Amino acid sequence: MLTGGCHCGAIRYEADGVPFHETNCHCSICRRTTGAPFVAWFSVARSDFRIVQGTPQRYRSSEKGRRSFCPTCGTQLTFEHEDMPDEIDITTCSLDDPERLPPRDHTRTRSKLSWVELGDGLPEHPESRNPDR
Ligand SMILES: [Zn+2]
Ligand SMILES: [Zn+2]
Repeated sequence: MLTGGCHCGAIRYEADGVPFHETNCHCSICRRTTGAPFVAWFSVARSDFRIVQGTPQRYRSSEKGRRSFCPTCGTQLTFEHEDMPDEIDITTCSLDDPERLPPRDHTRTRSKLSWVELGDGLPEHPESRNPDR
């Protein structure tokens, strides 16, 4: 089982199942919502994810996207897309052990900052990994 939560400890979550789509996302929304140059994410089936402590604040970050974060400390926790009701994305670095799920690629590199130099040899996708996403 994967466990994680926010920085202040108010929100805790658990995830079962097999994680997938481990990625570093370079989109401008991830950037602005975190204040970081890019954000590592992984996905699980939505039925395999549960909040076990606290209540995250959720908001609509794009037409079909919703993000959640801790209302106290602001840690970004999840992303959900209306067109993908069966999966949920979770910020890798909200995990208790982010070393367990290293990214497998970079997504939305068309938006990548010019001063971010990728040298890890992972595949780079200009937009999302799947064109329909
Ligand atoms: Zn918190
Ligand atoms: Zn993003």
